[in-house]
Amino acid sequence: MATLNYSKQRQAILDLLQSRKDHPSAEVIYQTLRKSMPNLSAGTVYRNLKLLTELGQIKKLTGLDGVDHFDGTTSPHSHFICQCCGKVDDVFFEADESLNEKAASHCNGKIQSHHVYFYGTCNECLKK
Ligand code: ZN
Ligand code: MN
Repeated sequence: MATLNYSKQRQAILDLLQSRKDHPSAEVIYQTLRKSMPNLSAGTVYRNLKLLTELGQIKKLTGLDGVDHFDGTTSPHSHFICQCCGKVDDVFFEADESLNEKAASHCNGKIQSHHVYFYGTCNECLKK
């Protein structure tokens, strides 16, 4: 197995995130990629996730379960979190585009964005 250079490792992380819609954590990304890239280190994965987030190529989701999750879909959308199984689904719905303006007068600073999480029970868990 040839050692992949850093840009190829970064591309592999980006490809993985763009191909799956389940918002994996850094640990899940690392465990998935190391099966085909045995030379990959956890540190490289964390470093590239930070860089890709700074470049705006992926989004970081915080405040879910204590660890950061990552999203390869960067278009504006909300998230639905199943409180039964922990699944994080995309919701292609802008909750309120004027929310930033409405909140502006209540904030000590300039608002750039907001993020909405919807909580509930997913259809699979409802069937159980
Ligand atoms: Zn569920
Ligand atoms: Mn998403």
